[in-house]
Amino acid sequence: MDKLALKAYGKINLGLDVLRKRPDGYHDLKMIMQMVDVYDDIIITKTDRKNEIIVATDKFVLENEKGNLAYMAAKLLFDEFDIHQGIEIKINKRIPIAGGMAGGSSDCATTLMGINEMFDLKLSKEDLMKRGVKLGADVPYCVLGKTAIAEGIGEILTPLPTPPSCYVIIAKPPVSVSTAFVYGNIRPDEITKRPDIDGMAEAIKNGDLYKMSSLLYNVMEDVTVPEYPIIADIKKMMIENGALNSIMSGSGPTVFGIYDNLEKAENTMKLLKKSNLTEQLYLTKFIEN
Ligand code: ATP
Repeated sequence: MDKLALKAYGKINLGLDVLRKRPDGYHDLKMIMQMVDVYDDIIITKTDRKNEIIVATDKFVLENEKGNLAYMAAKLLFDEFDIHQGIEIKINKRIPIAGGMAGGSSDCATTLMGINEMFDLKLSKEDLMKRGVKLGADVPYCVLGKTAIAEGIGEILTPLPTPPSCYVIIAKPPVSVSTAFVYGNIRPDEITKRPDIDGMAEAIKNGDLYKMSSLLYNVMEDVTVPEYPIIADIKKMMIENGALNSIMSGSGPTVFGIYDNLEKAENTMKLLKKSNLTEQLYLTKFIEN
């Protein structure tokens, strides 16, 4: 196989709790992860330039493409399996960059899976997840995909059934929020309200969209919303226009809203398009099991 085209899906967090800061500097989290049908294209092509891994992106990601997580994924497997074939990895970005949707981690996970397939490395999902966590805490989840509870730094995963069908608006405001800023400012001991992750998992298992939506909650909003009030403005517009609920995903600033009604979702899309609140906007659905 000389060419492989794959989809790297973005995720949203239906619930996100920061439990504690660990002695190693990482934070223990408890989250519900859900993949959505917003994806980057990952196209891997063999070239005749031996020992060369090229990454080409359609949008600016990084000054140095060797820092691209897709490059790092290919390099890790090429080094381990002594592969010298030249390849080009073309990435068409649709997932907001630095948006809290694990776009880089998903490109990384999809590249690991693509190289495994292209070079017939016979690694299992678990094998890829073990390698992926070295490159990023969300990478194992992106290998597993779909719906899952994530604990530890994000690498301890428990699959869940797909939540009931609904419409999801994803809106990225025109601001950048660094993940380091959010972790640097969150005080796990001082968090007064937390999501009921177990209750949400139960609601998902019971197929109860309304209970699930009522429990959407992300403690990282305590840090980001005071700094970037535009996040609250988008949430308000979604909720006033029929969203069952709306929260920020991951460390932000992307906001999503859940709808049980397509007309209401389409109407909100129109209003958001007309506003100056967003720079990237999608009406999408969950990726199902
Ligand atoms: P997370 O939700 O995992 O915290 P995020 O969605 O906030 O991630 P990403 O888009 O994954 O953010 O990227 C964060 C940073 O990672 C970017 O600012 C960029 O410097 C770097 N990066 C490396 N590779 C990629 C890639 N393929 N796509 C996007 N960003 C990448």
